[in-house]
This record gives sequence, C-alpha cells and structure tokens, in this order.
Amino acid sequence: MATGKLTIDLDALASNWRSLDRASASGVQTGAVVKANGYGLDAGRVARALAAAGARRFFVAVAEEGAAVREALGPGPDISVFSGHMSGDTEMIHDLNLIPMLNSVDQLTRHFEALPGHPFGIQLDSGMNRLGMEPAEWAAVRDIALASGPRLIMSHLACADEQDHEMNPRQLAMFEEMTEGCDVPRSLSATGGILLGPDYHFDLTRPGIGLYGARPFDDALAVVQLDLPVIQIREILRGESVGYGNSFVTDHPLRVATVSGGYADGITRDLSNKGVLWDGDTPCPILGRVSMDLIGVDITHLRDTPRELTLIGPHQSVDDIADTTGTIGYEILTQLGRRYSRSYARGRG
Ligand SMILES: *Cc1c(COP(=O)(O)O)cnc(C)c1O
Repeated sequence: MATGKLTIDLDALASNWRSLDRASASGVQTGAVVKANGYGLDAGRVARALAAAGARRFFVAVAEEGAAVREALGPGPDISVFSGHMSGDTEMIHDLNLIPMLNSVDQLTRHFEALPGHPFGIQLDSGMNRLGMEPAEWAAVRDIALASGPRLIMSHLACADEQDHEMNPRQLAMFEEMTEGCDVPRSLSATGGILLGPDYHFDLTRPGIGLYGARPFDDALAVVQLDLPVIQIREILRGESVGYGNSFVTDHPLRVATVSGGYADGITRDLSNKGVLWDGDTPCPILGRVSMDLIGVDITHLRDTPRELTLIGPHQSVDDIADTTGTIGYEILTQLGRRYSRSYARGRG
C-alpha cells in the first residue's frame, strides 16, 4: 500500500471536549463545531465520538453539512447552521431538523414564511462584520424575533486567539448591549473565547479547533498523526538534484527517500526545501519541491532504512507545520487529503 496513513485519535478528541467543558462553569453548556467535515477529520465519526463524550449541540457552516451529522447522531441532538436559512435550504432544514442561525431580516422573513414554528436561532454582528444582524437591523426585528422564541442568540469574536486584544472586551460589551433583557440562551465564544474566561462563556460555548488538538488551546491532546510510506531509496552524488525544477542540488553525496504524499494530499508546496519529516526522534529534511504525489527526503543520517516517515506526530504538530508554511492549524487540518488510508484509533483520553 502506497497511501499515507492518517490516524485520528477519537479518545484524544473526546478528552479535549471534556477539558474545554471543564473550563466553564457547570451551568454552561459546551457545544461542538463540526463544520468543514469535522475540520477535515470526518464529521460523522467526530460527531459520534463527541456525542458519546456528552456533547448535545452541534454546529455546521452550511445546511448541506447537516446531513452527515444528522445521520451520525440520529434525531436527538441539536444541529445549528451558522450560514442561517438561505434560499434552497428550506427542505434540508425541515427534513434534517436543522436550526438555522438567522443572520438578516431577509433570512428571518424567509424562515418565518417557509417554516413557521420551526426552531431557529439569531446571529448578531458584534463587530466582526462577517455574519449576523447589525445593531439597527436587530433593533427593528428584535420584538418579532423574540416573540417566536429563538433557541439561541449568538455572536462571534474576531480576535479571541489574542488574549489581550482590545477587540475582545469591545465585542463583549456590544453583545451584552444587544442582548440585554432577552430571555434567551446566549453564546459568544469559540475555542479562543473559552480561554478568555467566564465573562465570555454565557450559556453555551462553541469550540471547534481546540477539540481537534490545535492552537489556541495549548493544553489540547494531539488528535492527528500522519505517516507517509517510503516508496524508494536512492544514493545521489555531488552535483545531482532532487525533484521538479532542480530546486535542490547537493554539494555532497546523499541518501534520499521518496515518500508517498504531496500537494494533492494537502501537503502544501510551501514545505518545499523547508519542511522536515521525522523518523522517530530524528528530523529528516525535505529535499526539493513537494510534487503532487511524492516528496524527496534526506535520510543520509539515519542508521536504518525507514519504512515510513512521520509528517504530523509527536515532534511536529499541525501548528508547527502551519508555522513553517505561514498559515494556521485550521487550514492544515481542513486540507488533509482524501487519498490517505484513515484509521480511527482509540488511544489516550
Ligand atoms: C468556526 C466557528 C466556531 C469554532 O471556532 P474555533 O476557533 O474553531 O473554536 C465557532 N463559531 C463560529 C461562528 C464559527 O464560524
């Protein structure tokens, strides 16, 4: 078998959910965000593991993502949709029993006309200017919306991964002001907001990235390991090159392993001549460009010939790779390829 091996530790995932759940007071519910196919790890598997850990309220980005989650969870748990009620969503919202977070007067009108009596939530814009009703819009429909009993009123923080950012208290104050006197459960915080402390927790939190083992939840257990099989080994001489474009040329003899995995698997070309893979505790530099399916790796210094090399593991987290390539853990996870053979291990936690 020449495909990379992606191992997803569902016990570590469940343990991360419990840790974030313990970070807030006992009256605060902890939800789970499983958008983007569970941050690339399989929304159904992830949702089932989190439900077993105790999660009852799940969030997806778009109604289409609700299908796999509903199928995995059965009829009980709430599944809410951040993008709200778009035209064309009505049947899915009804059939899958999804709760749209209504983002505008248009969505509110559409929802009330298409599915009167069907549960909904409200998303408010407290300053991020991405989704949700602005203060004036909210003021105009607030009484009508509240009369129909929204399940949740939520907003989202723009800078919660920076503890001391002045935007955090500013959005907190705005959210307080916009929801004053509303007798409806409220939610403001994703992973970053949970770590800002109890003022930010309200009635329900919505962690995503922390569950999957990445920053800003520094105490998270790692959830993902990625091992790439070595397909071929060769010795190269001074003056020889490795890979497309001859971007790496050696000035001394080297032993080179060609591993299976490339940018088609979400291993970004930004790692070319820059990233490392690991043989146990020993780093092995990437030589030349990452190609679509293959990567050249320097194993000159290894005593034994490895059968596989680790890209994501104990010595190199999703965040480490993000740092090397100038992105964030979220992007590394959601780009993980579909070609890997995936196994859902139960390990720690
Ligand atoms: C993605 C998202 C979350 C989860 O955020 P994390 O930073 O992954 O914890 C919560 N709420 C909203 C509105 C989101 O878009």
